[in-house]
Amino acid sequence: MIIPSPAEVTIDEGTYSFRKKPKITFINLQQGEMPSESYRILIDKKNGVTISYADDAGLLYAMNSLAQMTAKWASSTDWPVRELQCCKIYDYPRFPYRGLHADVSRHFRSVDFLKKQIDAMAMFKMNMMHIHLTDAAGWRMPVDAYPRLTSFAAWRPQHTWKEWWAGDRHYVEEGTAGAYGGYYPKEELRDLVEYAKARNVSIIPEIEMPSHSEEVLAAYPELGCSGEAYKDSDFCVGNEEVFKFLETVLDEVMEVFPSEYIHIGGDEAGKQHWKTCPKCQKRMVDEGLKDVDELQSYMIKRMARYIESKGRKVIGWDEILDGGLAEGAAVMSWRGTEGGIAAMNMGHDVVMSPGRYCYLDHTQDAPFKEPQSIGGYLPLDSVYTYEPVEPSMPSEKLHHLKGVQANLWSEYIVTDGHAEYMYWPRAIAIAETAWSQPQNKDLKDFRRRVLKMLDIMRSNGYETFDLENEYGEREFVRTGVEHKAKGCKVIYNTPIQEWYPAAGEKTFTDGVIGGWTYSDNRWQGFLSDIDVTIDLGEVQSISYVGGTFMQLIGPGVFMPRQVDILISDDAVNFVQLTTMQNDVPTTEEALTFRSFETVCDVKARYVRYHAYRSTKRGFLFLDEIVVK
Ligand SMILES: [Zn+2]
Repeated sequence: MIIPSPAEVTIDEGTYSFRKKPKITFINLQQGEMPSESYRILIDKKNGVTISYADDAGLLYAMNSLAQMTAKWASSTDWPVRELQCCKIYDYPRFPYRGLHADVSRHFRSVDFLKKQIDAMAMFKMNMMHIHLTDAAGWRMPVDAYPRLTSFAAWRPQHTWKEWWAGDRHYVEEGTAGAYGGYYPKEELRDLVEYAKARNVSIIPEIEMPSHSEEVLAAYPELGCSGEAYKDSDFCVGNEEVFKFLETVLDEVMEVFPSEYIHIGGDEAGKQHWKTCPKCQKRMVDEGLKDVDELQSYMIKRMARYIESKGRKVIGWDEILDGGLAEGAAVMSWRGTEGGIAAMNMGHDVVMSPGRYCYLDHTQDAPFKEPQSIGGYLPLDSVYTYEPVEPSMPSEKLHHLKGVQANLWSEYIVTDGHAEYMYWPRAIAIAETAWSQPQNKDLKDFRRRVLKMLDIMRSNGYETFDLENEYGEREFVRTGVEHKAKGCKVIYNTPIQEWYPAAGEKTFTDGVIGGWTYSDNRWQGFLSDIDVTIDLGEVQSISYVGGTFMQLIGPGVFMPRQVDILISDDAVNFVQLTTMQNDVPTTEEALTFRSFETVCDVKARYVRYHAYRSTKRGFLFLDEIVVK
């Protein structure tokens, strides 16, 4: 009945009938009588609809739910609705932080786009929009004291991030012919904040530090260790001017954004130049810092103190744990959940956004039918299965788990429509995980409700993914394959390597087929040849031997240049059955799968499968060696 989040619902006998509009009684409860953002809806024959709510958010969500119950698409009877099922609904959030992230640096997004996503967020009871305002690809908020951040560092000559990345990664002056990018005037940002607030959404601004700051250091090279444009990606932590810059920027940011949290990035700092920069080295000596991790920690702690002195809270990516974390800072755990769990154990608040479940930049369906993406495979069902509370989290620390966030990095997402397509419906799965109690979650019911919601969203102009025509995983991923070698021992002539072990020695004969991504723990990865011998246990007739490889040249995954298949009765003397050359060009950019296989009519106990590493080197990934 309630879409999208299943609440605690008791269906009572009978229906409440009304002429034109239902009678609605509102009860605003005192603070503390109900959890914040919660509401109750009571529908009975006599009194009609009674809504009790804890606060403005609770009232908003109650009205959303009521609107959904009476909407044309949701009603099983005639419309307009003239009667409502008698019931009691109690709905409240599992977590106070239910976030959606927008990367407006890699590609600038319109304010209208952001407002449209905020409308959808409110519908799904999401309440935090985290805007990645700064990164190498462009700075997006004007700072009065540093005008070149937007007159220069917000613009690049190349339209796509990929072309810009492949080029010299330079910026151009605002107004240059063909300049691509943009920024939000402060009055537009203030308007956005108000718009979001009316929908119970806080806008959390992110200003990256100490790294992902190439654009700043091109506009103000004196803030990098080298002092030269296009040399650094990290701020110089030894330079007091850097702290003056960041404090000034944050003053202006906090003046525009009233959010409780201010995000200071903190991820993926290279820290290389700090090791030789005299200013950074002096800072380390003066402050007694033993390594560059502690130097980063010094910066984060200092900025955290500054932000906290203004009455705000600091949040950053989980790397801010390195070298020690400022008291009171919250952690957004993206490199898995370990960082988040460590932070909880240390008494810090945590928002979970592990890449495996929450990174909506991964493709959501079979890559051959989807727009180009950064890779990976994260279908709706996988997002929905995410459970943020893990057994290893001590119960007395669980109050530090503040919620969940869906992230959408937009390197490959040029248009607003494409971004919307990547959000919906997967962000609904995150919304429900963050709002609903886990015992109320049900994948089948969720998919049924989401299909309806997507119809509504499309009729309201949202460019959503077409869930109805989802292709799903590669063939046999769910069912596995039966074959003669299944369960047989595999002798590794080249050793298993540490990065992608999959199921170890069982991988090639466990009947488990790899999916659309090599990181799904079904593919075994090698930075060498793959040379293995399968022991069938006894001499058997063999009519087929084959294995499938994938190529994805972005992360350096290539087809083998050659595959030899050999047989033997004693594992000493081998006879070659076939040798095959690769015919997939090493320049092929699309994700490609290719079987290296042979049909034969022989008898043998041992089958040796030798795949030669590509001339491009890189990884080889193989999931199963099928013997029939
Ligand atoms: Zn330095």
